[in-house]
Amino acid sequence: MSNHIHRVVIAGGGLGGLTAAYLLRSVGMKVTVLEQANELGEVGAGIQTAPNASRILINAGLRPQLEAIKTQPTSQVRRRWSDGKILASRPLGDTLWQEFGAPYWHFHRADLHQMLVDVCSDPALPGPVVDLHTNSKVATADQSNPALPVAITEDGRRYEGDVLIGADGVHSRVRAAMGMSEEEDLLFSGQMVFRAMVPGEKLKADPATRFLWDSFHSTMWYGPGRHLVHYFIRGGEYLNVAAALSSDVNLDKGWTEETTAEEFIRAFGDWDSRIASILEKAEGPILKWALFAHRCNPVWVQGHVGLLGDAAHAMVPFQAQGASQAIEDAAVLAEELAVVDKDQISAALLRYGAKRAKRAGMVQEASAQNAHLYQLPDGPEQELRDEKLARFEGESDVSYEWLWNGKHEPMSPAYVFSKGDRPALARLQDE
Ligand SMILES: Cc1cc2nc3c(=O)[nH]c(=O)nc-3n(C[C@H](O)[C@H](O)[C@H](O)COP(=O)(O)OP(=O)(O)OC[C@H]3O[C@@H](n4cnc5c(N)ncnc54)[C@H](O)[C@@H]3O)c2cc1C
Repeated sequence: MSNHIHRVVIAGGGLGGLTAAYLLRSVGMKVTVLEQANELGEVGAGIQTAPNASRILINAGLRPQLEAIKTQPTSQVRRRWSDGKILASRPLGDTLWQEFGAPYWHFHRADLHQMLVDVCSDPALPGPVVDLHTNSKVATADQSNPALPVAITEDGRRYEGDVLIGADGVHSRVRAAMGMSEEEDLLFSGQMVFRAMVPGEKLKADPATRFLWDSFHSTMWYGPGRHLVHYFIRGGEYLNVAAALSSDVNLDKGWTEETTAEEFIRAFGDWDSRIASILEKAEGPILKWALFAHRCNPVWVQGHVGLLGDAAHAMVPFQAQGASQAIEDAAVLAEELAVVDKDQISAALLRYGAKRAKRAGMVQEASAQNAHLYQLPDGPEQELRDEKLARFEGESDVSYEWLWNGKHEPMSPAYVFSKGDRPALARLQDE
């Protein structure tokens, strides 16, 4: 085997782990994914990819697959809690393509996840097919041979690689195996969230909510101690609604509960009555859970072991960037590993961490700042914020330009393993 083809074991088959698996396979790596769940899948909710993430997926050859499952919002609209007054509106859609060379898209999480499973598994695509294992909860990592880290599952199976990546989410076991303590690192944000899905047909049929169907906006409502986001997915089949509230309840780190539309509506009972009109149409499980976030952590790498996605930088979702940052992680990881010999893996991983930790840390901080700004009580500070929101400046101190332009160039075609013309990396693999 060429000295450039690495065996990469990834703990966690979420959006971060699978994006990494696909991009690593595309540069010729032999990838094994260990997922704790019985079945690969994602929760029934929406997810937005901003241009910084959409660009990476498109450049990785996935545009046709993404086009088949995406919903493209026309504008981002900001509303006041009490009367729905529009504070600001910014075109997304084709305007954003022109400005940033990539789209703002919405997906059903399950669709995006399934697409990634498919492209990891498709033998017709470049690179070795990814070896996906379910029912494989990683308990810890054995680094007694630093060059060949081993992921050990709870039932004692051992998976050795040249590289081990922890993409196992906010309660990462790989992170713990690297010596980081969840006790000290993972903090309650003071926020909890509600999430619901509302069928588009019901919204279309009711004159009180028809305005949503007619516009396909991505919308955020701002109110004292609470904010609420909604957008369509699957071309309007569902409106995804997520809302955050400040909470001083002392919640444990795994706390989540199924709740009712009534409770969700009660929490927003003094808001514009259209919120209740939307929520009363919700179908399927309505969940609430506590939001925890990691302290910013510059140490993502230990020898041949690295962290990616929420395992590295769990953040509150107030920039809608957690998965998008995981996608950026995956792109940089694949770029760095693609070009190095086995004896340079540690250095490549250190470069990966160095390129990514500051930016992801800034997004973590920006997301936390937004909790305060989004939920200001009515008064002078809120009025100032609303003026800034109207200029699309009122949020945290990272600009959309910085965020959406991303940080790195698309993967060079020279590195991409291609079955057709055998370019640079493939030639190296033949040596
Ligand atoms: C309400 C809300 C809205 C959000 N909206 C957006 C948005 O619009 N855009 C955006 O970019 N981000 C958004 N995010 C953030 C985003 O959901 C996460 O950052 C992203 O899903 C993290 O992906 P991940 O793969 O790193 O981790 P996860 O999604 O947590 O995946 C980890 C995977 O690892 C598995 N796993 C866990 N432990 C183990 C183990 N020990 N062994 C093996 N497998 C294991 C899990 O089962 C899971 O499949 C939102 C988050 C919330 C809460």
